[in-house]
Amino acid sequence: MVTVDSMSDASDPPGPGELEAFREQVRDFLTANCSGWGEDSTRREDEGASRARSFQAALSDAGLAGITYQRELGGAGLSSAHQEAFDAVSKSWHLPNLPLAISHGMCLPMLNQFGTDAQRAEFMPDCISGRSIWCQMFSEPGAGSDVAGLSTRAVRDGDQWVLNGQKVWTSGAHYSDYGLVVARTRPDVPKHQGLSMFIVDMTDPAVEVRPLRQISGESGFNEVFFTDLHIPSDWLLGDLNQGWSLAVAMLMFERVSIGAGRGGLGGERVSQKLISLARHLDRDADPHVRQALADLWIRERIKGFIGRRIREAVTAGRVPGPEGSIAKLNGALLARGIRDVSMKLVGPAGQAWGPDSDAGRQWASFCLSAAGISIAGGTDEVQRNIIGERVLGLPREPNPFRDTAWEDVPRS
Ligand SMILES: Cc1cc2nc3c(=O)[nH]c(=O)nc-3n(C[C@H](O)[C@H](O)[C@H](O)COP(=O)(O)OP(=O)(O)OC[C@H]3O[C@@H](n4cnc5c(N)ncnc54)[C@H](O)[C@@H]3O)c2cc1C
Repeated sequence: MVTVDSMSDASDPPGPGELEAFREQVRDFLTANCSGWGEDSTRREDEGASRARSFQAALSDAGLAGITYQRELGGAGLSSAHQEAFDAVSKSWHLPNLPLAISHGMCLPMLNQFGTDAQRAEFMPDCISGRSIWCQMFSEPGAGSDVAGLSTRAVRDGDQWVLNGQKVWTSGAHYSDYGLVVARTRPDVPKHQGLSMFIVDMTDPAVEVRPLRQISGESGFNEVFFTDLHIPSDWLLGDLNQGWSLAVAMLMFERVSIGAGRGGLGGERVSQKLISLARHLDRDADPHVRQALADLWIRERIKGFIGRRIREAVTAGRVPGPEGSIAKLNGALLARGIRDVSMKLVGPAGQAWGPDSDAGRQWASFCLSAAGISIAGGTDEVQRNIIGERVLGLPREPNPFRDTAWEDVPRS
């Protein structure tokens, strides 16, 4: 099932001269198309989808989008060393592409690894260039941590599937063109065995998207309702009733993206930003502040190394395993550490700030969002369960319904 053919078509590793020229190209592009961090005080969540689309289109025109994906699929056809070089140069810039985090961090690798040739050719080029934005739909009101227990039903009708049900906490559904949805195709088998994954057209009138308001005032995620949504049968992703393995793979991509990519709150540049803030506030000589900053810096470096290891595995065509849970848990703990240190540094300005004090607003927004990192993509407790079972070899959680058909499991 896992393929490597549509990743980079660069066969020889690039030489130092080629990589330096590439870095120069990236620097020129970023200078022309985005601001350095510190120059742009906008919170990343505030970025609009349309700005992200334009930025991605420019990246694509410059041959810098989808760096390790094949050229025929809209990628740049370059190596993972080019990707590393891009990441190293761009980490000190403010890239306005957060609304594409799910498209590129989760949906794109899923299409690449599990899509048919026709699906890859139809959907990947627009996804890479930002012409289409994608969301992912797992969680339901009755199925979050226990996502395999979900109720959304897909029933075969001729050469189509008909989808009915409700999803919740769907990030970016309100500006997405397509989504990947997990639905129950067989209720008469144990819960993990009757799921399938489908591509969904989010602009279809049978899809209703209702934004949810968060504590921060933003509306990043949504409720999504499907009422007799007709899906072409060739929009099934992967094999029928094998949706659980796809869901696990996608969750691992998400955990990697949150914990080790640019998608999480604990981006590599954050400790650097806090160090600058401590200097600015004249707190950098305080031994407690220095200890806390050094601790965050070390955790960010660890995050960087975990991310590098996982990205290399993904580039080689492997789906990340439980190391995705280690990355996710580390990223969530780091985000909370950054929240605590930033609140200590900004003090009352983190709770009330004037129109000309952007630092307070930024760190308050960060503080309110940090807890969500411990929930999105599977909670910290769920990651610890996975690490306990799959890394440490501890006994599995007891489940009296493991072999019971989903439709016979008692539920409220
Ligand atoms: C910012 C954000 C973005 C999100 N984006 C998306 C998205 O785009 N698409 C999507 O499908 N979902 C999304 N989600 C939803 C997210 O995946 C779920 O919220 C998460 O899986 C937890 O499910 P739940 O909220 O139903 O909590 P529950 O599963 O009800 O958990 C409640 C509490 O019980 C604990 N718990 C549950 N089971 C166990 C167990 N077996 N062992 C120990 N403790 C346990 C949990 O850790 C938690 O503390 C997002 C969530 C957030 C916060």
